[in-house]
Amino acid sequence: MERKPLIAGNWKMNLNHLEAIATVQKLAFALNDKDFDRVEVAVLPPYTDLRSVQTLVDGDKLRIVYGAQDLSAFDGGAYTGEVSGAMLAKLGCTFVTIGHSERRQYHREDDALVNAKVRAAYRHSLTPILCVGEGLEVRQAGGHVAHSVAQLDGALREVPAEQAASIVLAYEPVWAIGTGEVATPADAQEVCGALRARLAELYDGEVAAAVRILYGGSVKSDNIAGIMAQPDVDGALVGGASLDPGEFVKLCRFSE
Ligand code: PEP
Repeated sequence: MERKPLIAGNWKMNLNHLEAIATVQKLAFALNDKDFDRVEVAVLPPYTDLRSVQTLVDGDKLRIVYGAQDLSAFDGGAYTGEVSGAMLAKLGCTFVTIGHSERRQYHREDDALVNAKVRAAYRHSLTPILCVGEGLEVRQAGGHVAHSVAQLDGALREVPAEQAASIVLAYEPVWAIGTGEVATPADAQEVCGALRARLAELYDGEVAAAVRILYGGSVKSDNIAGIMAQPDVDGALVGGASLDPGEFVKLCRFSE
């Protein structure tokens, strides 16, 4: 099965709404040629930028898609500070990141909450970008595959095959995020391959073949090609390098 590469920029808590508009305009201008449809390009701005990005994308019919960095497990009600899947869907979001290591680490999100958020995303027709990945100690002890597969299992509990087939996975080793220490292509392939094999066990070969699996962790324009050459890597989740439109465009054009 042909899987279209996805390059998604996780802006984290950066760029106000004016900076967001300027960034998306630059990306759109540089990725505007008619034949540039080899790669799906997504941005994941802070909640407060989503309306501005939506207006720009809709108004100029840009080919960039967008999503949020998190969502509530609840659909509405007395949950101060939370943002629901319904609200994100209304803002035209395609994707929502779930289980990013910064949420797991700083907000104590566990597999049960990640699972509840995955199911909330599907209730509102949002595509989860589900992040999994091990910390340095687990990697050094050789437990990286088992750890990432266990996070996948936890996140997909009670998620039916027809939904799981559309999920996007992101293997993000915590020791590589924001550190400049990128995993080798072989490291990325080892875990991404194991995640795909696990999907085949949990569901079937068709689901496993349909799911896009991204690598994330210090991806830059000068290291993306080797990672993208791996058979089970279908794209990249990019943090720091997505804040520089020139660098992000180079990343999106990795195959040229
Ligand atoms: C991320 O936060 O998802 C990420 C991959 O960050 P960076 O590219 O900066 O390592």
